[in-house]
Amino acid sequence: LTKPFQDALPIIEAIEEAGHQAYYVGGCVRDFLLNCQIGDIDITTSAKPDVIQAIFDDVIPVGIEHGTVIVRHQDVSYEVTTFRVEGEYSDKRHPDTVEFINQIDKDLERRDFTINALAMDKTGEIIDLFNGREDLENRIIRTVGNGNERFKEDSLRILRAVRFTSQLGFWIDEHTKQAIINVKPEIEGLAIERITKELHKLFAGNYVAKGLEYLVDLHITAHIPILKQFKDIQTLQHITRPLSSLSEVICFIHQREPNIQIRDIVAEWKCSNKVLKNAMHLNEAIRYYKSNGLDNWLVYVLPPELYKGFSQLIAVLLSEKVDLEALTTMHDNLTIRSKKDLAINGNDILEMYPNHKKGPWIHSVLIDMEKQVVLGNVFNTKTMLKEWIKWNPPEIN
Ligand code: ATP
Ligand code: MG
Repeated sequence: LTKPFQDALPIIEAIEEAGHQAYYVGGCVRDFLLNCQIGDIDITTSAKPDVIQAIFDDVIPVGIEHGTVIVRHQDVSYEVTTFRVEGEYSDKRHPDTVEFINQIDKDLERRDFTINALAMDKTGEIIDLFNGREDLENRIIRTVGNGNERFKEDSLRILRAVRFTSQLGFWIDEHTKQAIINVKPEIEGLAIERITKELHKLFAGNYVAKGLEYLVDLHITAHIPILKQFKDIQTLQHITRPLSSLSEVICFIHQREPNIQIRDIVAEWKCSNKVLKNAMHLNEAIRYYKSNGLDNWLVYVLPPELYKGFSQLIAVLLSEKVDLEALTTMHDNLTIRSKKDLAINGNDILEMYPNHKKGPWIHSVLIDMEKQVVLGNVFNTKTMLKEWIKWNPPEIN
C-alpha cells in the first residue's frame, strides 16, 4: 500500500479492533489502481456513526444522518461513512432516507459508476462486484445497474460521468450514454451549487477536450445554466487545455460570448465574490493584452496568484504562449510594487499648482505617473516626476 493508505491504516485497524468491518472505498481505490495521485481517502464501514464517534477522539460529525463522520488523524481528514442504502433524492441534493446496513455489497451497489464501486481492505485485497477493474482497464465509465434508473435517482451522476471522462480520459459506455441522453433534462432540477462544482472539475480535467466533446455532443449543455445561452456552443470545444479555476472558466465564457456578462455567470452559478474579483482581473488583463501585448503594466496590475490562470487563458483563447516564468521575472524586476512606492505624492503635486484645489485630478496624475514609472518611461525620483508633469500638464477642472 502507498503512503496515503498507510497513513489511514490505523483508522481501519481501530474500527476492526472494535469488532466492525472497514474498507478503503471509491475514488481513492480507483486512483490507486490507476496509479494516479490519490485525492482524499474515504473509508466505508459497518460501524454506525455513534460507534465511530466513540472510537476516535478527533471527529467532526458532518453528516451523521447520512452516516458520515470525519475522523482527523495526524492532521488529515478522513470521511468515514457507514454502509448504507439510499431512498429517493426528492430534494435533488440528498437521499430522503438512508438505511444503515451490515454488508458492504449493497453499499457498493448504490455507488454511481463501476470504477467508483471498488473497495479495498487493509491488505490491499480488492472487492470488485461490478467488474470495475475491467472497466478501469478498458477506460470505460459505466453506471452500476440500469443507467436510466441510476440517473433518474440523481441526475448529478450525468455530470459526474462527463467530469470523469475529462479527468481520466475515459469513454462513456454506450448504454450509459443512451441513458444520459434520456435523462439529461432532469439536470435542470439540480441545486446549482452541485452543478458548479462538477463544472469546475470538468474544466480542470487533463482531458478537458474530451469532457467538453461529450457535454456538447450529447447536448447536455442545453440544460446547464449559462452554457445553454451559448450561441455557438462548438466554440466550447476549443478548450484544449485545462482551466484550473472557475474564474478562468468564467472569463473564457465571457471572452467567447461577450453578451454573457461575468457578473451574470457568477450570480447564476452562485460563485463567491473572490471568483468574481479574479474573473474581472483576468478579463481586464486579457483585454489589455489583446491591444498592448505583454508589458510591465499588465504584470503590475494583475495579482501574481493569477499569472498561471492568465497564461492558461492566453493559450486557450489566443493559442499564444505566455511563459509563466517570464511573468514572474518581469514582476521581480518591477521598479515599484504599488502607488506607495512612487517618489511623489498628492501633496507634492498640489504644491506644483498652488492656485488649484484638491480634487480627483490629483488621483489621475498619480495613476498616470504610476503607469509611466512601471513602463520605464520616467525614473522614479521626485525631480524627474515633477519634470514629467511639467511637460505633460494635467487637465484640472
Ligand atoms: P473525487 O474525490 O476525485 O472528485 P470521487 O470518486 O472520490 O472523486 P466523491 O464525490 O469524493 O468522488 O465521492 C466518493 C465516492 O462516493 C465515489 O467514488 C462514489 O463511489 C460515491 N458517490 C459520490 N457521489 C455519488 C453520487 N452522486 N451517486 C452515487 N455515488 C456517489
Ligand atoms: Mg473523493
